[in-house]
Amino acid sequence: MEKVVIIGTGCAGLTAAVYTARANLAPLVLAGPMPGGLLTTTSIVENYPGFPEGIDGYELMTRMQKQAERFGARVKYGTVEAADLSGTPLVLTVDGEKVETQTLIIASGAGHRHLGLESEHKLETRGVTYCATCDGALPMFRNQPLVVVGGGDSACEEATYLTRFGSIVYLIHRRDTLRASKIMADRVLANPKIKPIWDSVVTDIHDVAQNKVTGVRVKNLKTNAESEIACVGLFIAIGHVPNTQVFKGQVDMDDNGYVRTRRGTETNIPGVFVAGDCHDSVYRQAITAAGEGCAAAIDCERHLAALNA
Ligand code: NAP
Repeated sequence: MEKVVIIGTGCAGLTAAVYTARANLAPLVLAGPMPGGLLTTTSIVENYPGFPEGIDGYELMTRMQKQAERFGARVKYGTVEAADLSGTPLVLTVDGEKVETQTLIIASGAGHRHLGLESEHKLETRGVTYCATCDGALPMFRNQPLVVVGGGDSACEEATYLTRFGSIVYLIHRRDTLRASKIMADRVLANPKIKPIWDSVVTDIHDVAQNKVTGVRVKNLKTNAESEIACVGLFIAIGHVPNTQVFKGQVDMDDNGYVRTRRGTETNIPGVFVAGDCHDSVYRQAITAAGEGCAAAIDCERHLAALNA
């Protein structure tokens, strides 16, 4: 039986791994469908302390994993398909295999929110994408009109990044002010290659019949006027949904699926702790996720010490 299993290899999971490994608990760290978490899809992280020139998101996560492994963390690739947290030990099913553990740190992060259009689903990877860093440099997007949806830091970061490749980048946002931090918003508004389309939503994506993106239908929410924008790429950056479905009905969560905490990082289940974006709907930063990972590791270590006292 494991002493500690950590679900997630984002900032929260890997920081929890560094701390529990250094406490000689030899954590088993499960990397789900996106090893390294969402930060691996960010180009440059400029606000993680200690890197005055910024650091590539993928590199930051690779370094965190190496740091955790150096102290004895074991990273295993696998998806948690089911969890039985009703007794002792806690039991997970990971790619068909049972894993038993005394404690669990849920740091499973969050996935991309979708617009919910049928055409979005059909054209995913055919010009519809959720990651400019991953896909922006593809030849199909070079010197062509591109569209980004959203008004937060992600949308601003994606739009700015895409100006390297596209002929013009339309930023479609459902309100007339950006939610993004001031520095990111100012950068976008000062960029001559970015054209904001305010108070508007994408209602359809063309052209499913051709199996590629050729444009979007846009509705102005103030006037109800509809228009078409020709583009070859649609980059959707409208926030995230916590990856907590597998714990539904066992771990307390709010209506949006964010895990609720009691004292510190404790959940309603003894021995189960939570950290990072699957719990935090407010701050959602790399550094706050890392901080919560540290706190969860300390809470977990104290729980195990009390059990064995
Ligand atoms: P976010 O801050 O939640 O912003 C989501 C945006 O999408 C909002 O502007 C929202 O509109 C819009 N939106 C949500 N649902 C929509 C829908 N169904 N249709 C159309 N628009 C919709 O998400 P985020 O930009 O991904 O950022 C998440 C967190 O990561 C934030 O804390 C952010 O600061 C952080 N982040 C930081 C950096 C960085 O510092 N380098 C980079 C990326 C992200 P409303 O504004 O109307 O709600």
